[in-house]
Amino acid sequence: MKLVIINGRVIDPSQNLDGNCTVFVENGVIRDVAKAKRSTNGYEIIDAKGAIVSPGFIDVHTHLREPGFEYREDIASGSKAAVAGGFTTIFCMANTNPVNDNASVTQMIVKKAEEVGLLNIFPVGAVSKGLKGVELAEIGEMVKSGCVAISDDGKPVMSGRLMRHALEYAKTFKIPVVVHEEDLSLAEGGCMNEGRISTELGLKGSPAAAEETMIQRDILLSKLVGHHVHFQHVTTATGIDMIRQAKKQGIPVTCEVTPHHLVLNDEACRGYNTNAKVNPPLRTTKDCQALIKALNDGTVDCLATDHAPHAHDEKNVGMDEANAGLLGMETALPVLLKLVHNKQVSLKRLIYLLTVGPAKIFKLKTGSLKKGWPADMTIFDPNLSNTIDAEKFYSKSRNTPFHGWKLKGKVLHTICGGKVVYA
Ligand SMILES: [Zn+2]
Repeated sequence: MKLVIINGRVIDPSQNLDGNCTVFVENGVIRDVAKAKRSTNGYEIIDAKGAIVSPGFIDVHTHLREPGFEYREDIASGSKAAVAGGFTTIFCMANTNPVNDNASVTQMIVKKAEEVGLLNIFPVGAVSKGLKGVELAEIGEMVKSGCVAISDDGKPVMSGRLMRHALEYAKTFKIPVVVHEEDLSLAEGGCMNEGRISTELGLKGSPAAAEETMIQRDILLSKLVGHHVHFQHVTTATGIDMIRQAKKQGIPVTCEVTPHHLVLNDEACRGYNTNAKVNPPLRTTKDCQALIKALNDGTVDCLATDHAPHAHDEKNVGMDEANAGLLGMETALPVLLKLVHNKQVSLKRLIYLLTVGPAKIFKLKTGSLKKGWPADMTIFDPNLSNTIDAEKFYSKSRNTPFHGWKLKGKVLHTICGGKVVYA
């Protein structure tokens, strides 16, 4: 199979490349990225005029809900949502039923993902058995079966001792420990950020300190064990600054932020809008600004959506009872491009954070258009008007606070392993 992408503006931060180039693909890998005119005889042609051609996007934080919660999403519907969002590689979290805390669940996910065959899906195994935070899961077996990291995402590892052991084990298997930071005793009962708006709405809030105290603990444990901690969905100005300082000291930590924590604040919870209930909660404008600054100065290593599908009934209740989480993959690009159009981040930096950034953290062979690398690519028009319509999502769920938003930017083609998987 030979494929060529012509007339596009190719932006590949891994090679510091930005220019009009022709991308040649043969047998699923990048054959060449050429500036000069060359014959395209014998190639299937995609004309990317007016569009950006970038390495395929990577989302290191999604929930595909299979096994156990297929009414919300399954590996097939989640795959379709992912490629529609421009993603060619995603990680799925372990809070399924049964929990992905052993090799048999990991193998089942890997097998289903291969059957669907649209994109690369890597499972993240649990840190602890049943996500209970008591006993370590079968880390070695899960890594052997295809897990690329471990995380009790959604549940913090409250025991410092268990977290230390998890880091020691993960070190021997050379995978990072990925953490959702939340001190449960501080956060208990909170359904949004604790602050002025929660007081006005009469809702119990979760303080920023619930997240920050745990970030600080795990920076110290990362230093103690000398192993990589990756912080998920960081949301607070103080938390991101702790990570900045830790990096300056050479402590092996990395972090991600989500599109929604960059463009939404706790005002979005007004009207008791359960689609704005996420965990960690949407914070304040000041926090959003601090996160945007951290995108630019290198503190943030990658973007990740925390795509969390929930059924209508699980959101159509009061703020206290509603499940936390929103859909992320199909809205990520237009939401993030808002920052580019507002000149808060450059297009090149944005693409970095969606491609080579996450690939570096987890040592993936993707996120680059280097010769010989897998032909994973996203072709998108950053200026095309796009009104978000949840009814048109490929996801099985509809929980998004972005429904009806008028944004700019649309994915035109997603190519994975040289195969067009979305157009
Ligand atoms: Zn999550």
